[in-house]
Amino acid sequence: MSDYQTLLQQSTDNPNSFWREQARRIDWQRNFSSVLDDSDPPSPKWFCGGLTNLCHNAVDRHLRDREDQPALIFVSTETNSERTLTYRQLHREVNIMASVLLNMGVRQGDRVLIYLPMIAEAAIAMLACARIGAIHSVVFGGFAAASLAVRIDDAQPALVICADAGFQSGQLINYKQLMDAALDKAVHAPSRLLLIDRDLSPCDMKPERDFRYDIERVRELDAEVPCTWLPSEAPSYILYTSGTTGKPKGVQRDTGGHAVSLATSMELLFQAKPGNVMFTTSDLGWVVGHSYGLYGPLLAGMTSVLMEGSPVRPDPGIWWRLVKTYQVNLMLSSATAMRLLKRHGFGQPDTEPTRLASLRALFLAGEPLDEATAHSIEKALGVPVVDHYWQTETGSPMIGLPPTGHQRGADDKLPVTALPRRHGSPGLAAAGYRLAVVDEETGIPCPMGKKGLLVAEGVLPPGCLTTLWGKDADYRRIYWSLQDGAWRYSTFDWAVADKDGYIYLLGRADDVINAAGKRIGTREIEEILLEDEAVAEVAVVGTSHILRGQVPVAFVVLHRHAMQNDSKAVERRLIDAVDNSLGTLARPKRILFVNSLPRTRSGKILRRVIQDVIAAKSIQDLDAPDLQLIITDLSSAFHAKEKQQLMLEESSP
Ligand code: AMP
Repeated sequence: MSDYQTLLQQSTDNPNSFWREQARRIDWQRNFSSVLDDSDPPSPKWFCGGLTNLCHNAVDRHLRDREDQPALIFVSTETNSERTLTYRQLHREVNIMASVLLNMGVRQGDRVLIYLPMIAEAAIAMLACARIGAIHSVVFGGFAAASLAVRIDDAQPALVICADAGFQSGQLINYKQLMDAALDKAVHAPSRLLLIDRDLSPCDMKPERDFRYDIERVRELDAEVPCTWLPSEAPSYILYTSGTTGKPKGVQRDTGGHAVSLATSMELLFQAKPGNVMFTTSDLGWVVGHSYGLYGPLLAGMTSVLMEGSPVRPDPGIWWRLVKTYQVNLMLSSATAMRLLKRHGFGQPDTEPTRLASLRALFLAGEPLDEATAHSIEKALGVPVVDHYWQTETGSPMIGLPPTGHQRGADDKLPVTALPRRHGSPGLAAAGYRLAVVDEETGIPCPMGKKGLLVAEGVLPPGCLTTLWGKDADYRRIYWSLQDGAWRYSTFDWAVADKDGYIYLLGRADDVINAAGKRIGTREIEEILLEDEAVAEVAVVGTSHILRGQVPVAFVVLHRHAMQNDSKAVERRLIDAVDNSLGTLARPKRILFVNSLPRTRSGKILRRVIQDVIAAKSIQDLDAPDLQLIITDLSSAFHAKEKQQLMLEESSP
């Protein structure tokens, strides 16, 4: 058994001593009295009695040894600008922002909703919230006003922070206008808005409500705001994600467990060292941006490169030029981005063999990584490509293997791993997870090689969601079940395990699709489409897409009176409705008008039947009459099977 496996085993056999050791990676203002309080399952409290602060650990702690090292480098290929903040400068800016937040009435435990593009102020605002114990909720800029309003109403923030504008795939997006529309719609709109003006687009300012950061900032240039020491279990942030219901779920994370889990994964999985440079291509509005764009690298004393812009603009070589310019050691991105770059020959990263010499590994997460992409990118870059699996809920990887052997440090304490990676699988359960693949119906563990649901047994390790914001009953009901007296967390992913415990992911088991690594709830799209007066019934399912992994496709039944309507016009209207409510990322790739949808006897739409029909077809081949026939056939087959089952049940004693 390798040292790494021994370490993994310790993490599950003796979690208390394992996590006590890992907790040394961060500073505690008051030490914790117990590692784990599991008296209220399935909501463990990690590092009870401990007081700490995320901002202190991410920023202040490094001032002694690395104040002049760049902490954050923000590059915008949209505005052709670059901004570097050393740890000293970041510390200053965070103090200023924290003071502005306090002046605007934000207090410990208040929520601050951040709706910003990839600019330094996004990271500064997150850290400023952490500094004063406010709970940030970052909303990705691609979300439209209605989605933003739903999140505002759920989080009920004391303040929203937004920019005048940003860019999505080269297109100017007016963030302030979207925020204004969201605040008009929201029932719990806060009375204060802080505007970061980039001078990209004129803004209407509402006197009394809207404040300009440039004006507020200069008043606080010398402000010193001490970190608020928070109980380990105090919420640090809320991040909304899609689920089976039509409403987004506010994943809530704690403070101490979150810091410890990130610091642990930075070393054990990413093999990061202080002073290393990490380039995470995700937006800060997603969990990958939170964990490995901001907090993880800073907790580890690294430099984090963040970018506003697309991987293919101004040309597909841009990412590799950034790797070279900033001497990036670790890169974290998505399979979709790599497939896009593959189309462009990866922007020829290997034409100058020495230019990516700094890069040690490329990590990919968020969606299945196909073998062809993994092989070709590995060949093009000449570095290991490391697939790892996790969810917004877990905050750090659940499955993954470090790229190569751990290097022994001066203290000789680091473990060596020689575990081979297997293409198609992110690898083995990460530290602290006891994963199992179980039968969906019975909950009994599946034999090796059989597909089942991926679950985590017992207590989730530090850093995982502690509940859903304001919806603890939903948290317990949605994710947790009791199996033979033991708690079990469902990932809602299909998986299969091999004899060595390597886990292969086989897609979502619920109504969530994964488009370009972004989670989209099909119910959310259905609810928007159903609002149209012409629509009688609708089913949205995911179909495979060569670039984006999956894309949503909508099957729509029109009301009889609307059948005469021009279907092109209805289609346009429906697409606009999704764009305006959820954002373009949820836009159905095709809308297919059909006469009916298959249903169970109890009236439930048979989404899986539809899914199966289109899974075998490419998006271009989707043709409504043809599909209607297949769906009707499958639906009859399903009903026949259902009837047979019923007869069997009735005839059994
Ligand atoms: P999110 O919460 O948006 O990060 O999405 C999490 C979901 O993305 C998981 O439940 C999986 O369905 C999928 N996912 C994440 N990482 C991987 C991976 N490495 N391989 C396959 N699917 C993945």
